[in-house]
Amino acid sequence: MKLKVIETDMEYLERKHQQHYKHLTWNEFITNEKLELVYVAIQELQQEFNIPDDNLHLENAFELTEDLREEHFTQEGLRMNCELCKGVGWIDTFNTEDRVQEIQKCDDCNIFKTDKEAREEEL
Ligand SMILES: [Zn+2]
Repeated sequence: MKLKVIETDMEYLERKHQQHYKHLTWNEFITNEKLELVYVAIQELQQEFNIPDDNLHLENAFELTEDLREEHFTQEGLRMNCELCKGVGWIDTFNTEDRVQEIQKCDDCNIFKTDKEAREEEL
């Protein structure tokens, strides 16, 4: 008999974070998840109470949650907000180990996975 593996919520979240949201810190990811749940909850309410799509309150609620997610949690949004690299995704820095000036990926927004990737983008 095959054992059915049931994923706990936490495991599911950890996997989702690793697979699709690595550019976010864990806390940012969780906040993003909560916003998504708010969005879904509004959709459920709309259906339950047959609220028309053009209801002003409904439109506001959808737009505001979407705005928040786009501004803070998409790669593009993070690029705009990153203070360390000013949104380019890489920094020109002095490597104290090798004692050379070099391009490194920005560790704050993690737009690039490796320093090499960041260097190719900069060229
Ligand atoms: Zn950055």
